[in-house]
Amino acid sequence: MSGIPVVGLFRCASYERNILGERLDALLESMGGMDRFVHPGERVLLKPNLLSASLPGRCITTHPEVVRAVALRVLAAGGRPFIADSPGLDGFSGVASKTGMAEVARELNISCEELDDPVPLPMAEGSVFQRVEVSRKAVEADRIINLPKLKTHAQMMLTLGVKNLFGTVVRQRKASWHYTVGLDRDVFADLHLDIARSLAPSLTIMDGIEGMEGRGPGNGHPRHFGLLAASTDPLALDLRLCSLLGADLQAFPLYRSAARRNLLPENIGKTGGDLPPDFTFEKVDIPRLDSLHLLPSFLDGIGKRFLSSRPVQRPGDCIGCGKCARLCPAGAMVMKKNNFIDIDYEKCIRCYCCQEVCPEDAIGFSRGFLLRVLDFLGR
Ligand code: SF4
Ligand code: SF4
Repeated sequence: MSGIPVVGLFRCASYERNILGERLDALLESMGGMDRFVHPGERVLLKPNLLSASLPGRCITTHPEVVRAVALRVLAAGGRPFIADSPGLDGFSGVASKTGMAEVARELNISCEELDDPVPLPMAEGSVFQRVEVSRKAVEADRIINLPKLKTHAQMMLTLGVKNLFGTVVRQRKASWHYTVGLDRDVFADLHLDIARSLAPSLTIMDGIEGMEGRGPGNGHPRHFGLLAASTDPLALDLRLCSLLGADLQAFPLYRSAARRNLLPENIGKTGGDLPPDFTFEKVDIPRLDSLHLLPSFLDGIGKRFLSSRPVQRPGDCIGCGKCARLCPAGAMVMKKNNFIDIDYEKCIRCYCCQEVCPEDAIGFSRGFLLRVLDFLGR
């Protein structure tokens, strides 16, 4: 398999079935064909990004045409695909219906299920975290095909192949992890990397046809990238994408985690496909992350209060749904009268969950002192 690239990158202009099918076949062929990853009779978890109950055009979730096209090829290889994810807050049936997954499942006569029933994940050697629970369905699947969406992420900079597998953690337990990990993005990246290495998906195919930039993963702007990408190693895919998007690798918590742990994949420059070798996307709006750990840890509170960005509600845009307060892992938000939310900044761990979950983009982040200084210096 020496001729197979570590990361396959193919242009794909749209979700139109003929175009997508032809491009996906070219991508799969470059990776050795679907038969390399799926054997007859195997139960194959297709794990899209189903963050919330949103229409495909909002580019928050993996497009149903990508999931459909991959499912058809798994079926053709003799596999038994099922679509599953664990949305953070919205009910699963509403998510499945609005994102188009239920319709795909109906048409192909396959199941579309919630990832529930948490069980311990056997952790890969060298994991930082020794006990992580994910859905039994992810642990017991014969194969996982990981189907992330290309999006920026206000807390972690990008959400691609590795972070998509954090979605196998069942529902509110994701929020518990936010609280456990607290302020440290690099530790959170360690957790994401541990889960991805332990689940070891057979293949990651990323929907980068229409992605999101800016304040992702839920409130950024759709952007046409026209890209389908794949790798057997989601970390290699993410690091290659980070460069392709013009983002600073050193600022990417996932890269820092992998580098610190000597887990950087070899040959991530060995790409195949039809992008020119020196291609990068222009002027992608990548969130800038402020460091929350410039001071010694016992001064975290001061750093948090005076230096870091903080969530701010825009009451005029709020519809009072209460999702943010229900999800807040630190219990830092209290709904008051007239859609006003009281935020306790001492408790707040700057996890960005409230911004992520808000359906009305009614929560912004005021820029922290450090980012404002960097802005002033033009960096
Ligand atoms: S207020 Fe928002 S950023 Fe702060 S802990 Fe709660 S959900 Fe996270
Ligand atoms: S800020 Fe957003 S998530 Fe929170 S109550 Fe208002 S609309 Fe709902």
